[in-house]
Amino acid sequence: MRIDVFTIFPELLEGFSSVALLGRARRDGVLDLRIHDLRDATTDARRSVDDAPFGGGAGMVLTPGPLFQAVETTDPPRPLYLLGPRGRRFDQSVAEELAGLAAGASGGFSLLCGRYEGVDERVSDHLVDGELSIGDYVLAGGEAAAMVVIEAVSRLLPGVMGNEASAQDESFTSGLLEYPHYTRPADFRGWEVPEVLRNGDHARIERWRRLKALQRTIDERPDLIVARGGISDEEQRLLDAEDPDRSS
Ligand code: SAM
Repeated sequence: MRIDVFTIFPELLEGFSSVALLGRARRDGVLDLRIHDLRDATTDARRSVDDAPFGGGAGMVLTPGPLFQAVETTDPPRPLYLLGPRGRRFDQSVAEELAGLAAGASGGFSLLCGRYEGVDERVSDHLVDGELSIGDYVLAGGEAAAMVVIEAVSRLLPGVMGNEASAQDESFTSGLLEYPHYTRPADFRGWEVPEVLRNGDHARIERWRRLKALQRTIDERPDLIVARGGISDEEQRLLDAEDPDRSS
């Protein structure tokens, strides 16, 4: 998959993406991440990318010239998304959608990072294909958001995660949070790993994990239960068998 990123702080993205899972994906050629410095597309000696807002007000705004120039000379894979708080909310389903672009005609997608007070509106109107937000809060720039998007998408690409199965039963994939994990020691400071996970009965383990994922999602993220259309009859029977007081 190819992902192009446009930023005034390429070193932030280079550092983050050169180690661990992303670093390996890049070295293995699974992820073709191209990070472009918007200042390389400037024409003045100061390499300016921002200017004061028309109409006055605090802060500076990224000026359209270098942004258009950088994108037009690169011809990056589309869609090109501007990162910003008003964009479409990035979640696991969007990550899966973007990972699917690896197999599409463009072979990927691109991200444009804002800074300061934001980006000249003509960039939204005439350069990008859409906007992505990673949540209802305001960051200082789009780089951290780009890193979130790149990591969430990349780990869905075939060959990036060591164990392909681990991406399939994770939180959100089935509309539920993931079940709890434990590793050695079996007894840590008197807190024991549930017996069911230690007895080797895979059917019981599977059932326990399903139950815990359901209970955890009902308790901690009831909105996810609503979004997936509620609890199936089979799931309700599982819940009732474990805890008859927890009726729908
Ligand atoms: N003045 C803008 C506003 O009130 O909506 C905020 C600008 S913010 C300080 C600077 C840049 O950070 C934005 O242009 C955007 O690229 C990025 N950014 C901030 N919050 C973000 C979020 N929740 N998701 C994605 N990008 C964000």
